[in-house]
Amino acid sequence: MKYSFTCDQGHEPQTFTVEADNDEEAVAKLMEQTQPHLAQVHPEMAGGSPEDAKQMIMSAWTKE
Ligand SMILES: [Zn+2]
Repeated sequence: MKYSFTCDQGHEPQTFTVEADNDEEAVAKLMEQTQPHLAQVHPEMAGGSPEDAKQMIMSAWTKE
């Protein structure tokens, strides 16, 4: 399954896409993939707890 997460908080929408078999795997991959973006563009989010990042991703992602 393909999971996409689009971040558009304060900038042009940027989409991150990963292939995963289930939600757990997808969120882990997306957290890894969005980490550099969060650290660079949203330091306040990167400094939050992994649980917060997880919630944010899972509330906004789309699955195909
Ligand atoms: Zn962003």
